[in-house]
Amino acid sequence: MWPALTILAVVSAAALHLWWRAKFQAQQEQRAAEIEAAQRQQRQTSLDAKAQQQVLFNSMLEGLLLLDRSRKVYLVNRAFKNLFGLKTELRGKTIVEALRLHELDELVRRVEAEQQVLDFEIKLPDLNERWLQVNAAVITNAAGERDGTILVFRDLTRLKQLERTREEFVANVSHELRTPLSLIKGYVETLLDGASGNPEVAERFLKIIERNTQRLDLLIQDLLTISALESGRMKLDLQPVDLSALVEKVFVDLHSKADNKNVELVNDLPVLTAHADVNRLDQVFANLVDNAIKYGRANGAVRVAGKTLADGRLEIFVQDDGPGIPAEALDRVFERFYRVDKARSRDQGGTGLGLSIVKHIVQAHGGEVRVESEMGKGATFFFTVPAIKIEAA
Ligand code: ADP
Repeated sequence: MWPALTILAVVSAAALHLWWRAKFQAQQEQRAAEIEAAQRQQRQTSLDAKAQQQVLFNSMLEGLLLLDRSRKVYLVNRAFKNLFGLKTELRGKTIVEALRLHELDELVRRVEAEQQVLDFEIKLPDLNERWLQVNAAVITNAAGERDGTILVFRDLTRLKQLERTREEFVANVSHELRTPLSLIKGYVETLLDGASGNPEVAERFLKIIERNTQRLDLLIQDLLTISALESGRMKLDLQPVDLSALVEKVFVDLHSKADNKNVELVNDLPVLTAHADVNRLDQVFANLVDNAIKYGRANGAVRVAGKTLADGRLEIFVQDDGPGIPAEALDRVFERFYRVDKARSRDQGGTGLGLSIVKHIVQAHGGEVRVESEMGKGATFFFTVPAIKIEAA
């Protein structure tokens, strides 16, 4: 009986062993599968985080540049590449290799040395002058050691241009105001010094003073108009405007000016009704017709005509048969204070703001202005205005 019991015990022990081994192996396999699933999940999470980070960086308007500890590019976003017009891979390159900007490289070293957020402006050595604002800071790890540098770039070019335009405008305004003022002052002083004793001289001087006072008045009026138009303070009172009737009125206003130069004023406008502010449109016609008389030729003609465009807008033009405008000045005549011939414009009482006012008024109506001219063949100024809507009409 003992041998039988021994065999049974051995067989049971073996079976138990085999059962345990099978169970242990199954557990092992399950654990390995779990570990692999967890690792896969972790990899996916890290990929998702990286993708999210990239989306976030790429959605930034500012250019972003991350440098590693050895000042090599670790990461850039899309805005950065656009800002610098770069298409190649930058990872691993130094600032000088990637951008050829020694100035920026020096700034990074300064940020590292000073260990604080710094704010700079740099000018790019482009052909078209471009300015960037750069915010830079050192990135540190948990132990407080330098891990890299982060730089954020913003394009300042437009702001700089606006600043320069404003400065030029202020300089121009001061100059334009000072010229008639110093003339007035000079003649008043001469009168006070005794010239008033001679009635003929006194009258001539007083006329000069009067002319320059009018000039100052005109200039200030134009400046106020420009300022109201630019700030958007000027509200348009849109109504149906009979363009031909308006041109007739403007012709009456400028009649004596035209007669002085024997200029014929021709209204060739068909029946067109604009949806516009009549007083502002009056200013547009007055400026354009006045210029056509001023800069056109004596014994010439000024013609106003227009049509309805395919898109329903109205296109009007004011044409003269004078000497015209040189090609290089065509793009500039709508700028504030730009004159082809400064002396001639001033002699004619021009402020240099007329066409700028025209442009602003037309744009406030949603229209466009342009000029066509060939030297010796006159100039034609075009502008568009919205037509009255049928149901409104
Ligand atoms: P201004 O007060 O000097 O007339 P504008 O802004 O009205 O200022 O015009 C700007 C410049 O454009 C003028 O000084 C003149 O040189 C040029 N100009 C405008 N209209 C004409 C035209 N019809 N023919 C030739 N030159 C013109």
